[in-house]
Amino acid sequence: MLWLVLGPFHAMENQVLVIRIKIPNSGAVDWTVHSGPQLLFRDVLDVIGQVLPEATTTAFEYEDEDGDRITVRSDEEMKAMLSYYYSTVMEQQVNGQLIEPLQIFPRACKPPGERNIHGLKVNTRAGPSQHSSPAVSDSLPSNSLKKSSAELKKILANGQMNEQDIRYRDTLGHGNGGTVYKAYHVPSGKILAVKVILLDITLELQKQIMSELEILYKCDSSYIIGFYGAFFVENRISICTEFMDGGSLDVYRKIPEHVLGRIAVAVVKGLTYLWSLKILHRDVKPSNMLVNTRGQVKLCDFGVSTQLVNSIAKTYVGTNAYMAPERISGEQYGIHSDVWSLGISFMEPLQLLQCIVDEDSPVLPVGEFSEPFVHFITQCMRKQPKERPAPEELMGHPFIVQFNDGNATVVSMWVCRALEERRSQQGPP
Ligand code: ATP
Ligand code: MG
Repeated sequence: MLWLVLGPFHAMENQVLVIRIKIPNSGAVDWTVHSGPQLLFRDVLDVIGQVLPEATTTAFEYEDEDGDRITVRSDEEMKAMLSYYYSTVMEQQVNGQLIEPLQIFPRACKPPGERNIHGLKVNTRAGPSQHSSPAVSDSLPSNSLKKSSAELKKILANGQMNEQDIRYRDTLGHGNGGTVYKAYHVPSGKILAVKVILLDITLELQKQIMSELEILYKCDSSYIIGFYGAFFVENRISICTEFMDGGSLDVYRKIPEHVLGRIAVAVVKGLTYLWSLKILHRDVKPSNMLVNTRGQVKLCDFGVSTQLVNSIAKTYVGTNAYMAPERISGEQYGIHSDVWSLGISFMEPLQLLQCIVDEDSPVLPVGEFSEPFVHFITQCMRKQPKERPAPEELMGHPFIVQFNDGNATVVSMWVCRALEERRSQQGPP
């Protein structure tokens, strides 16, 4: 059986490989390679250099089955491309189709002014290795451009996200890692939330963080906070996101169940979206659930950058009341751990959370909440991770189904009323 699978694949690897080098605006050049599997990244760059002597090419791209461009910058990535290509060849052979050449798209290195259209910027002055500092956007896969949010495009078209263009206004809050400011982005006239985190780390780590944050450009969901860009200046990173005028859920007092239900639907959809991108949130809690007066609910502060999380963790002391028991006891973290935190975020009163590792899971007071709600929370907070609902079970849970009616007005009215109350309590400015 195994032989049947491996046999044709190896046979194919021994065949000649035709690489079609696409030249921007002027056709293509076919290059026949006799030792496909041994091909090195450097070899391909050399050949591209001969085809395009005017440009300095640092990377190239190929297209996956969805037409998304994938960047190749190393031998490892070359291997991934070849193995993907051979699998498509195998399919073409099985279907009796003509074998298509492997198409690649050289990426020329342009002057920094033109290149850094994403607004991502590494402050190279902060680090020692100035001469070898490729701009971070060098490593941006072009499919990060895919994000089609009109707002994002507007901002990117208006120029880079950088400190000079940002006017910091009020402080929105302090967290363990940093401070969030309401800020005005001068070129776009847009209000942003900018999280500033002090990080005394090397330039290499700064670059790693920037490259890990790239996935945020791909996140395109109405349940996830919009990302506009990030930049380092000296020892601090600024992460620019959409501003949510209702702030985070932790500042709201009692939330009626019909509002909470709609919020829970949005949070479950946001988490399901992240999980579909293989991102675990890792910090699900009310202060990372944001609302606005349009009735939208969005998740923020999910752990896309391991390096950022690690760097912040070095300065972070204390435990997090929303953490799943398996995480507190240092076991493996997974989707189920996000589900625990989801359950606990929607649970009142929160003081029941002490001693979660040793005690039985807390139970909601009966009578105050509907049966589906109590069941939903209880299921999310099963001590055994595997017993907690899987993503599709969350979406299909009666509590979520009941409130999954797309009614944003309920949340919108509740946010507006709460903000008004807050204003009237504070009195005139
Ligand atoms: P932790 O650091 O443990 O995650 P936290 O979530 O409270 O705690 P921050 O993420 O620094 O801390 O956020 C501080 C506060 O800033 C939040 O509680 C929230 O009220 C506010 N905030 C964060 N992002 C936004 C945003 N995009 N729009 C409006 N307010 C925001
Ligand atoms: Mg937060």
